[in-house]
Amino acid sequence: MSYKNFPMVSKVVFGRGSFNQLSEILAPKRLSMNAPFIYLIDDVFKNNIWITSRIQLSYDDKIIFISTKEEPKTSQVDALVEDIILMTKALPSGIIGIGGGSILDLAKAVSIMLTNEGEAKDYQGWDLVKNAAIYHVGIPTISGTGAEVSRTTVLTGPEKKLGINSDFTPFDQVILDSELTKDVPKNQWFYTGMDCYIHCIESLSGTYLNTFSQTYGDISLQLCKELFLDDTLSEEESQEKLMMASWHGGMSIAYSQVGVAHAMSYGLAYLLGVKHGIGNCIVFDHLEEFYPEGVKLFKEMKRIHKVELPQGICANLSDEEFDIMINIALNLVPLWENAIGKNWRNTITSKKLKELYQKM
Ligand code: NAD
Ligand code: ZN
Repeated sequence: MSYKNFPMVSKVVFGRGSFNQLSEILAPKRLSMNAPFIYLIDDVFKNNIWITSRIQLSYDDKIIFISTKEEPKTSQVDALVEDIILMTKALPSGIIGIGGGSILDLAKAVSIMLTNEGEAKDYQGWDLVKNAAIYHVGIPTISGTGAEVSRTTVLTGPEKKLGINSDFTPFDQVILDSELTKDVPKNQWFYTGMDCYIHCIESLSGTYLNTFSQTYGDISLQLCKELFLDDTLSEEESQEKLMMASWHGGMSIAYSQVGVAHAMSYGLAYLLGVKHGIGNCIVFDHLEEFYPEGVKLFKEMKRIHKVELPQGICANLSDEEFDIMINIALNLVPLWENAIGKNWRNTITSKKLKELYQKM
């Protein structure tokens, strides 16, 4: 048995208003006048002076605003890398991602692809990256995915939705300023927050569970319960707790795995473009047989926050379309192994997944 030896985020700042320290943190990392910092920012902040006025551009530094309507694609990473190479005289000093899981993943992937040959799709998988990435900083503006702490960057490629999992993926620096999450719309807050909750449930009830994962998962789950079941927390407290729940949830799955909801949600994302947070919710709502306690509590949280989920999204799909989703899901072997055990193929068949998808 060989145990995973995995890197963590090297540096992290935590605190409301800590985003103000960004320039001070970056200054010593500037390699030369020709090596700029490139900011990848969710375009929801395009006219948000509260955020942009605190970014100090000098020399050739650039801000690139990015739409997160769709989840990151390998082709999008390749195009960004090409743009950056064309617009800069030397390799950048650093890539700074400011946004949710989509932007954090893009920042990680771009920083890797600036120093590695070929296309992003060539690196979807485990430990395929050869060269260290460029210095990269993650600044989450919505909490839940754990992308700020994870060793992966989830990308949709021409053939699969799969992460670039590597020792070079984690951020060199993260800034956890919960104030940046204050304007997240309520439904989105719930969907991305539930991603964290589902990470905990899938990690804590999986066969890969160990004490490392359990301790992080327990804390994260406890925070999720406080947050989503009790409506009396102040906004500030709730934002801070969700930010730390996301961090701990990410740490928990780093040493275990996610499970059924994630496997099936990847299918929905690939075929229908359903985004990660809401997709996980749509699937998880129907997983009582796998996670009875977790799903019961989830329904309670949904009720408390008056969140309605889309229904019947698979109602008009053809058999071929079902097969595409089912194949994507079944290919995520470690997720099933974690959820069900080594003999998962005995119970998780195409027919079984089709029945589940048909309910969604
Ligand atoms: P997101 O980044 O797609 O953002 C969701 C929405 O919230 C967007 O419309 C965005 O504009 C908006 N938003 C973000 N911050 C805001 C703010 N402060 N105010 C107002 N609006 C704001 O969503 P997400 O759920 O954070 O991330 C989903 C992505 O993360 C998926 O692509 C998924 O694959 C990926 N993911 C990655 C990991 C990982 O470990 N790398 C883990 C889980 C999910
Ligand atoms: Zn997730």
